[in-house]
Amino acid sequence: MRIAVARESRDTETRVALVPARVGELLALGHRVLVQPGAGAQAGHTDQEYRDAGAVLDEQALSVADLVLAVQPPEPAAIRTMPAGGVLICLAVGQDPDVHAALRDAGVTTHAMEQVPRLSRAQSMDALTSQALVAGYRGAIVAAGLLRRIAGVHMTAAGTVPAANVLVLGAGVAGLEAIATMHRLGARVRAYDVRASTAEEVRSLGADFVDLGLPPLDGAAGYAREMTEERAARQQRLLTPYVAEADVLITTAMVAGRAAPVLVSAAMVELMRPGSVVVDLAADAGGNVEGTVAGSIVRIGNAQVWGGRNVPAQLPGPASDLYARNVVDLAVLLLRNPDDEILVATRVAGVP
Ligand code: NAD
Repeated sequence: MRIAVARESRDTETRVALVPARVGELLALGHRVLVQPGAGAQAGHTDQEYRDAGAVLDEQALSVADLVLAVQPPEPAAIRTMPAGGVLICLAVGQDPDVHAALRDAGVTTHAMEQVPRLSRAQSMDALTSQALVAGYRGAIVAAGLLRRIAGVHMTAAGTVPAANVLVLGAGVAGLEAIATMHRLGARVRAYDVRASTAEEVRSLGADFVDLGLPPLDGAAGYAREMTEERAARQQRLLTPYVAEADVLITTAMVAGRAAPVLVSAAMVELMRPGSVVVDLAADAGGNVEGTVAGSIVRIGNAQVWGGRNVPAQLPGPASDLYARNVVDLAVLLLRNPDDEILVATRVAGVP
């Protein structure tokens, strides 16, 4: 099989689907690896590294490949150059009708990494988890960088610097990583989530769980359920004093298949003290904070509100390393058994 590695063409995308360290695994199985020149540049990998790993550099790689590995779907024009009967594996296939039409026209079967089921057998292919982990870390570091104070407590001869108060809303993969990173910096961390199991997970990281006394909202497959309007209003009211006390607010809440829930109103942010920071990691999905703009910092009251845009791509090195592992494991399974339930779950409907 000829396996192509796409050079990403989308705005803000800096990751690469296959890093040089993983080329050998595909070669060892008897496949050829073709890489579009410059594919790894933004993630810190030169063309020479790919050559040294045994790949062939080829600008036309997509048009001769049996299997294309990408982070985001290639542009429709590039998809149309792919041979009929080819396969594309990528993340964030989304609903773009032009992309879907191009995949259909080209006769390209597509597997969406974001659809990998959360089975223990599929953990090494779980790109949502690997990328959420990178996003959570990045969110914490951005918050610490924007904050005009020291995160952790310091006792010095000149006096004590108190720890910053951090509030994390949403304690899934990204939230737990943000909690752990802020805790490592020495901050006093509190967190809230609607799923019952998260209290224990939050505490195991050394943070305090905020118990609002509201019923949990556990949904199917370990995901959260959507809030009713009444619940959302109540939750906002109960969270208000915690937001007002926070020097840093990091939000990560998502509900599968929906816009991100609005957890914090602009009026709540206006209660935060001068110098405080809000990092909204759900900004690409509409945001958890009223007024967030993905890709910008806006000021609301005294706070700087950072809206994350394609946050994993802001740390392209580790994000690509982890994603490449996810992709190679899925590709190897695909080549062994295309009817495996994991492949069936990831196959994009409406495309051959
Ligand atoms: P996610 O990105 O869908 O959502 C992030 C967090 O936001 C979740 O913890 C969710 O409960 C929370 N949230 C949603 N609505 C909220 C609200 N109104 N207020 C506060 N918080 C809210 O979640 P995720 O990080 O993808 O994790 C989802 C689940 O999948 C978790 O149970 C996680 O443990 C599980 N998981 C399983 C595997 C596996 O088995 N392979 C891998 C990763 C994650």
